[in-house]
Amino acid sequence: MDNSRRKFLKIAGLSAIAGIGAPTAFNSLLKGEALASSSGGGHGVEAAPTGKRYGFAIDVQKFADDKDLAQRCINACHSTHNVPDYGNKKDEIKWIWTETFEHAFPDHSHYKKNEALHDMPIMTLCNHCDNPPCVRACPTQATFKNSDGMVLMDFHRCIGCRFCMAACPYGARSFNWRSPREMDASGKNYKYIKNPNPDFPTRMRGVVEKCNMCAERLAEGLLPACVDACRPTDAIVFGDLNDPHSAVSQVLKEKFTIQRKPALGTKPSIFYII
Ligand code: SF4
Ligand code: SF4
Repeated sequence: MDNSRRKFLKIAGLSAIAGIGAPTAFNSLLKGEALASSSGGGHGVEAAPTGKRYGFAIDVQKFADDKDLAQRCINACHSTHNVPDYGNKKDEIKWIWTETFEHAFPDHSHYKKNEALHDMPIMTLCNHCDNPPCVRACPTQATFKNSDGMVLMDFHRCIGCRFCMAACPYGARSFNWRSPREMDASGKNYKYIKNPNPDFPTRMRGVVEKCNMCAERLAEGLLPACVDACRPTDAIVFGDLNDPHSAVSQVLKEKFTIQRKPALGTKPSIFYII
């Protein structure tokens, strides 16, 4: 039995003995308690050592004005990252997707709603939370905050326990119930990944996945694929939220923005211009 699996079983056992259910665990995780300390500590969430905190400003109106824009973003992201399409909702894997206003912003939904706003497609993705409960929930450190504050996955360390999925209050994580690597009848092509990108890994059955903020593209000096797909519009603006001169900081200074479920204290790094 490898180390990570042994550690997981220990935590799973402790959680079961303690009777930690998903909502209770989530509340503890937000406060920075619980599973990390019960496993002997070592994977608390710390501020990014570089002082950076990457984030997005998403202009909701621009997605309403151009009905194809959301799908272009989804296609760009999913084809870049070999996101499998299993062809049904139950098995769906999504890194970026659209939600209704009510689902995305339950705190802002109200009686006598503004129909125009409530009919808008809201682009949603992992919020790369500054206080990410998913990171604390993961017993193997398969999900972690990187040196620039992005919340990432090491697919090889994922043991498929789905604690991170239970801890994420945004539904930003998907689980591969099936194998994304299944081949078609010819035995030459992936069945669920059309035009695979050879520069990005495919995943296995039993692995959780989500938006990685295009860390691999940023490393090459490129913008995230969804930001690129919006060009020439600036429907999604990307940058360092901690840099007052960055494009995203400028937008936040000038526009009124909201975050998803701010009352939960996860501190999302995705802001919406409403
Ligand atoms: S949105 Fe969910 S998966 Fe993304 S960092 Fe926040 S809690 Fe984790
Ligand atoms: S930042 Fe990259 S991985 Fe995240 S949604 Fe946009 S394209 Fe997908």
